[in-house]
Amino acid sequence: MAIKPQEVATEKHFLWHSYSVQQTLDTLVARKDGLSDIEATKRLRSYGSNSLPQARRRGPFMRFLLQFNNPLVYILLVAGVTMLFLGHSVDSGVILSVVIINAVIGFIQEGKAESALDAIRQLLAPTATVMREGLSRTVPVEEIVPGDIVHLTAGDKVPADIRLIHTHNLRIDEAILTGESAPVDKSAAKINGEVPISERSCMGFSGTLVSNGQATGVVVGTGADTEIGRISKLLTETTDLATPLIRQMSQFGRWLSLVIIIIASLVFCIGIWVRGYPFIDMLAAAIGLAIAGIPEGLPAVMTVTLAIGVQRMARQNAIVRKLPAVETLGSVTVICTDKTGTLTKNEMTVTKVITASHSVDVSGVGFKPHGNFKIQDRLLAVEDYPDMLELLQGGMLCNDASVQKVGDEWRISGDPTEGALITLGLKAGMKRENLEQNLPRTNVAPFESELRFMVTGHTTDQGRHIAYLKGAPEKVLEMCHMQRGLVGDEPLAKDYWKRQIEVNAAHGLRMLAIAKRTSSSGSFEHIDKSDDFVMLGLVGMIDPPRPEAIAAVSHCRSAGIQIKMITGDHAVTAIAIGRQMGFEGRALTGADLAHMDDAALSRAAHECDIFARTDPEHKLRIVKALQDRGEIVAMTGDGVNDAPALRRADIGIAMGLKGTEVAKDAAEIVLTDDNFASIASAVEKGRTIYDNIKKAILFTLPTNGGEAGMIIIAVLFGMTLPITAVQILWINMVTEVTLGLALAFEPAERDIMRRRPRDPRASLLSGVLIWRIALVSAVMILGGIGLYFWELNAGSSLATARTAAVNTLVIVHVFYLFNCRVISGSALNWAGLRGTRYVWISISALVILQLVFTHMPAMHHLFGSAPLDAGAWLRCILVGATLFLLVEADKLMQRSFKAGS
Ligand code: ATP
Repeated sequence: MAIKPQEVATEKHFLWHSYSVQQTLDTLVARKDGLSDIEATKRLRSYGSNSLPQARRRGPFMRFLLQFNNPLVYILLVAGVTMLFLGHSVDSGVILSVVIINAVIGFIQEGKAESALDAIRQLLAPTATVMREGLSRTVPVEEIVPGDIVHLTAGDKVPADIRLIHTHNLRIDEAILTGESAPVDKSAAKINGEVPISERSCMGFSGTLVSNGQATGVVVGTGADTEIGRISKLLTETTDLATPLIRQMSQFGRWLSLVIIIIASLVFCIGIWVRGYPFIDMLAAAIGLAIAGIPEGLPAVMTVTLAIGVQRMARQNAIVRKLPAVETLGSVTVICTDKTGTLTKNEMTVTKVITASHSVDVSGVGFKPHGNFKIQDRLLAVEDYPDMLELLQGGMLCNDASVQKVGDEWRISGDPTEGALITLGLKAGMKRENLEQNLPRTNVAPFESELRFMVTGHTTDQGRHIAYLKGAPEKVLEMCHMQRGLVGDEPLAKDYWKRQIEVNAAHGLRMLAIAKRTSSSGSFEHIDKSDDFVMLGLVGMIDPPRPEAIAAVSHCRSAGIQIKMITGDHAVTAIAIGRQMGFEGRALTGADLAHMDDAALSRAAHECDIFARTDPEHKLRIVKALQDRGEIVAMTGDGVNDAPALRRADIGIAMGLKGTEVAKDAAEIVLTDDNFASIASAVEKGRTIYDNIKKAILFTLPTNGGEAGMIIIAVLFGMTLPITAVQILWINMVTEVTLGLALAFEPAERDIMRRRPRDPRASLLSGVLIWRIALVSAVMILGGIGLYFWELNAGSSLATARTAAVNTLVIVHVFYLFNCRVISGSALNWAGLRGTRYVWISISALVILQLVFTHMPAMHHLFGSAPLDAGAWLRCILVGATLFLLVEADKLMQRSFKAGS
């Protein structure tokens, strides 16, 4: 029977902590082995999805209205209405239509950017482990229902409100609910009475983070029915499309608008009082100037550029969680990366088994359990070596992974290091189920990076307690006093084992030791301090480097980025793998770092590229040390304890596959494939996005400069306006929606990964770029006014002369687009001139629009345009081509100046 939502949502059920486990299960009609699929589906239908109510977004109508919330639009609206009162109904109609069309364009662009980013966020939808039909399963968090049995381990985000059933060293960080930053201890014992959330120690609350241990619990509330769901202020989280750069530019835009409005007012006053122009002419000029000078479309173009870039990054396995990271990516000077799984494939295969008396080679590849055991090329039967059998048995029992055949492929679930040990046992003909039947597991101390070992407890039929220990060899050796020999236990030969570790690690093998203890007690209290284990032996596994990561390391280096490998693995293994990947030099270990003061660490962090046997806290120290040297640091991480380092780094990068929710929460970027190569490509994309935003600015601002300059000159010299306000509106509209957007799709420039990282303090518009904007504005002014007079001198009408001026400005833009595609490199080559699909689509659209503008009678009426003859078109094209060559010459000069300096 399914309980109804209204039954649960009563006041008394907020006191789940005062229920015993059994009472809770009974009330929820739940069982410890989980719900059936049918029941889960039924409950999902009746309770709804386990998601917090969406932040109330602005509705489409509101978003559309907000498009009008901009100084230029106010000016245009005032202008349109004034024109109407003055009897210029056509101009007024055109202005108001353009305002509406612009709003529609802005609305669509913004909508696209938002939905692109939403889609990316969806990629990060979390999952949780629950029991269904008696089996442990991974399901999307949204599908969790009251009554589900959930497993939690360190690093998980609690997926719903949970009454805990079993706990093992469980500690949960409940800061988001209670504000208390230290994690709190949890246990399954019920708490009587009405106590604050922080004291409900038998509960896990949705959205809080498991910082330690493991637990099982039953879900008592989902979605809005959770504690976090009740805190409504947390739900109004909105998507912010702006990054610091875009905000900075919007602010610049607002200042510029103010300056332009002041200039326009001045020009208006001078025109009327000094020059004695008619009011209506000066109003047209002032409005024209305001429209010309204000870069109103720029923020939208920048946002779209950013959204498209971020979408492309997601396609290449890097999901940006926090948008400002995109800008920081281009400035990264150091990437600190994990080794296992990021630089290497994490496809572990045991190739060496070492006991006290033998060193055995194991053949086979990957997780396929096909292979044999050899001593110096002589095949051996493992059954004849009881010491080795015991070692392999320990590896299989002290293990949480499983290996299955799916189709033709052997797949693992769980930790690959442990998967390799299962495969090893299978190669020797062992079956985990049989072993577990004889020695059922009764206790476990799971693997933790800081401890570097794992222990499982088993009980024999006779009630004896056996513990299997596996972990980093140095640690295991510390916990042993004897070793298993051919004929029984013997004193531990530490030097022998150390030699074996060194020799094999030097071949790049990941070493693990396995030991056993038989005792009368099954307790694991202070197990890390024990020294009564018997060393069974070592296994060495290969973990081949990812070939694409080797290439990516070298790409990053040529992009001026240092790469540091920070691993929990043995120093000798790390050096050997590092060498295969192009890392030079020695390795510093966590123990070395522990003895260093800040100054020494700062030097070491700079000089050394390999850090081995490190704890997560060392990562934090390394990040700080590098940052103190002025470096911009990207740091990878996956475990719960990596979170502080991820947060501290300028860019925290979490692993999407093996990373915990805690790490993902702390990171700016999540890699969906855990691959170092994806970091390199994210850096490249980040640089490209920044470049493209810069290109959009470089492309847009001269439009404003050129048009405003033409009007100011006309007023100052007492000329008729060479372009009218509505014509300026037309130019801005068509160039922005066509050419400006084409730049958002620009691929990376060829040398992008050969440049030094960008100085984050350097301003976006360098002197060189400001000069370029001024140069292009000047050519536009000269070209526009020049061709305007050419037509007048040739006896053409004012309308024809103005149409020539408009087309000059537009065609100059077309040519200038090719200049802008490469900021400082030459565009005078095949790649530069060939453009992209988007460039040609937008040019084609623009050509059609200009032909319509120039030759369609209705447009003559609306915009005051007139047909042009072939000669006039040719002259416009000539001005455009001249500008193109001028800008290329300028680039050449800047390049040779830079090379000479
Ligand atoms: P990286 O930090 O590059 O991802 P890593 O995976 O080698 O490196 P850890 O997971 O912290 O780092 O492992 C450190 C050491 O602990 C390993 O070298 C190995 O000896 C041991 N170890 C790793 N996994 C297990 C495990 N599941 N059980 C027992 N010991 C393990």
